[in-house]
Amino acid sequence: MRYSADSLETAAKTILNGFGCSDNEAAIVADHLIRANLSGHDSHGVGMLPMYGQQVEDGNLIPNQTPDFLPVAGAICVVDAKRGFGHRMALLALDHAIETASEHNVAVLGLRNSGHISRAGNYSEYCAAKGFVSLHFVNVWGHPPLVAHFGSCEPGFSTNPVSMGIPVDGKAKPMLDMATSTVAMGKVRVAYNRGEQIPTGWVIDEEGHSTTDPEPIWSRREGALTAFGAHKGSGLGIFVELLAGALAGKETVATGNNIPRGVFNNMLSIVINPAGFDNISDIESRVLEFYQSIKDGKPADGVTEVLMPGEPEERRAADRLDNGIEVDDTTIEQLMTTATTFGVDRESLSKQLKPT
Ligand code: NAD
Repeated sequence: MRYSADSLETAAKTILNGFGCSDNEAAIVADHLIRANLSGHDSHGVGMLPMYGQQVEDGNLIPNQTPDFLPVAGAICVVDAKRGFGHRMALLALDHAIETASEHNVAVLGLRNSGHISRAGNYSEYCAAKGFVSLHFVNVWGHPPLVAHFGSCEPGFSTNPVSMGIPVDGKAKPMLDMATSTVAMGKVRVAYNRGEQIPTGWVIDEEGHSTTDPEPIWSRREGALTAFGAHKGSGLGIFVELLAGALAGKETVATGNNIPRGVFNNMLSIVINPAGFDNISDIESRVLEFYQSIKDGKPADGVTEVLMPGEPEERRAADRLDNGIEVDDTTIEQLMTTATTFGVDRESLSKQLKPT
């Protein structure tokens, strides 16, 4: 079933209000989740709400939290999110980093102890909209690791995403946003909820053999996701863990891995004022020239058009805004169950969901 983005956003806000989030926080989180759905990353869209509900119940995710901005000199910013909703905490932390980068031309932000920050690309887009180049490295902790590092059939770190964006005309163009696992764990959840098999190469079983069954890893955490790009992707995932967890944060997954139903993020962000390097319009021209040179590359067999990072998301968003966002019935039922747990009336919530 497809639902209009507006109606899904309204329903998400209702559920978040049920969790105890203020209207302001509910609007920020719902906006983030719907943008993730629009961009095609259903793994990080409204389907995350049941997990957030469990974490609120456990006291591991705290609505309306006030982060601590730690006193640090120079261009380094450190923000302790104190387990607040990461979508809002990360924006507050980035506002602080952007202010610092306006003074020093660069800021290096450590956001630590945050609730799930969800789609890392959101933060590249946020900085680009304010005219800043940004790079974000995010580790995932709280639960045991999920991703097998190169050469091992046991998980050693989690899906540790990386995102980067360069502003052109106030938009991140190009914009890279990817897990350092072959795919994010949420994509396994989406396949499982839809009753589908997963492609070969996403997941290995406990002996290290590739499997297309999402059930053992999703339901029982048996086996592991694979790191993308063999030894090189594995190496990047390890460095994301170190930059975000050991340097910017206070926990890597080696130590912070036994909090029941806990999913937390630390993020190291580098925010750069492009004007510190050159005239902005000259930089944008160089970016666009290179952008076009990549797109002009001859498509390989079976490829109709070469795309730059960020383009698939843009196109899916245009399609889904017009035609609605597909959400499977299992996910809708999980949203309903979560909502009723928090005292939201099931019938009025289902009235908010408008199929397209
Ligand atoms: P993915 O495998 O779809 O990769 C996405 C990246 O590849 C994007 O930059 C996209 O533009 C680019 N891309 C895709 N197809 C392309 C093509 N044909 N040509 C050129 N570029 C192309 O996504 P993923 O790695 O599964 O990540 C999904 C989401 O999960 C991301 O938003 C990520 O931030 C999020 N995530 C979050 C956490 C967390 O703990 N907060 C953890 C892991 C992942």
